Amino acid sequence: MKMKVDSGTCIRCGACVSVCPFDAIEATDGSVQPNEKCTDCGICEKICPIGAIAIAKKV
Ligand code: SF4
Ligand code: SF4
Repeated sequence: MKMKVDSGTCIRCGACVSVCPFDAIEATDGSVQPNEKCTDCGICEKICPIGAIAIAKKV
């Protein structure tokens, strides 16, 4: 899994949790984190209002 949330930047707005089509983001203390259902589709990266989500590009 390449999707990563910067827990220092995330404000837990919940937008990514709502938008994820795979129900793959779970709220944790202080931030949100992907679970094993994440497909690295990139939708949450696009909608995060503060750019706290990054998905590593394939090398
Ligand atoms: S959309 Fe961004 S700021 Fe909002 S909960 Fe998700 S990672 Fe955090
Ligand atoms: S990359 Fe796609 S599947 Fe993974 S957490 Fe974000 S929206 Fe959900």
